[in-house]
Amino acid sequence: MTNKKKICIFCGDKPERKNKEHVIPKWLIELTGDSKREAFFGGNVSREKRGIRMYSFDSFTFPACEKCNTEFATLEGATKPIVIKILQNGRIDSCEITTFLDWLDKARIGLWLAFYYLNKNWAGISPKFHIKTRIGTRDRFLIIYKTNYNSSGINFIGAEGLSFQHSPSCFALIINNLIFFNVSTFDLCDRRLGFPFSQKTTMANRIQIEMDMVEGFQRVSNPVMRQTFLTKGIILFQPIFKEQIKNAEGRKLYNNEYVRTNSLNYEEGIGKVFIENNGSTHPLSAKDKLSIVPDRQHDYLRFLPKLSKMTFDYQLHLFQMPSPENLSSEEKKEFKLNMKAMKQSNETFLKIINQQIAKKTQQI
Ligand SMILES: [Zn+2]
Repeated sequence: MTNKKKICIFCGDKPERKNKEHVIPKWLIELTGDSKREAFFGGNVSREKRGIRMYSFDSFTFPACEKCNTEFATLEGATKPIVIKILQNGRIDSCEITTFLDWLDKARIGLWLAFYYLNKNWAGISPKFHIKTRIGTRDRFLIIYKTNYNSSGINFIGAEGLSFQHSPSCFALIINNLIFFNVSTFDLCDRRLGFPFSQKTTMANRIQIEMDMVEGFQRVSNPVMRQTFLTKGIILFQPIFKEQIKNAEGRKLYNNEYVRTNSLNYEEGIGKVFIENNGSTHPLSAKDKLSIVPDRQHDYLRFLPKLSKMTFDYQLHLFQMPSPENLSSEEKKEFKLNMKAMKQSNETFLKIINQQIAKKTQQI
């Protein structure tokens, strides 16, 4: 991997005592097969090497400071036994789910910066956060799906496209027969989970959004997500208000019985994990332990194109969530152009995915 200006994927600074971080951690690569195996890493969009990009998982590494790398080894260490438990259909509690959601934040932002490097910043963005500043800072939403895939392996969906470069808020990670559809952004589920929420979110400029926070309804509205998602999954939510309580005004909004009762760590701005079940949603208590693997499963090859489409479509939806009305006419124009380019890029990647799946289906 070559890039003139190397930045640490954790802190965004010039890497101190240079080190390399596996964006897909070594333990997960080893847990799911041969660490030297080759995998599909999206399409290469650089002019010189256009085409499908394949290389070994083991060499999917990016710059990091030694200090940052060591610091995050703790999260990796804590996540490994949780992932093993999930894969074995074991029961986990809301603290373990929170750790897993943190780790998904890390993986998602890591992949985003990885493709930023790999594709030589084809979206022309300037990353406004890195793993350290983004982890556990916004509402999270996770759907776990099970498929009939009967081998081991890792894959991810949605990370290679242009819309993910503009808004790295949604991707799907595949580990063996389980699929984790993960979303994290402001304004995602706080409103319908009864927490204070932004009644209007606007894009202030190219990179900043403005929120108008108001008191919450202090009750859950079902369904929490109004969009429809593929069925047969287990749905989890976690409201996060770390950023919103940084100032006195924000702290006042959140300082009530409802938020306190429904928080895992009120001081840190971490809400409880909520689970949706048969059309109703409730918070997990400290004592609750559950398997997050659904009973029902999908046919892997039939499910993959649908999941890919859902992921790409949702990325576009998230990109348009804050209103562009306050942008300058120049910025509005750029916004529209970006939308168009993202749609085209998503269509291209969907085509590649569908072609690969069609090939596999013929082999069976
Ligand atoms: Zn660093």
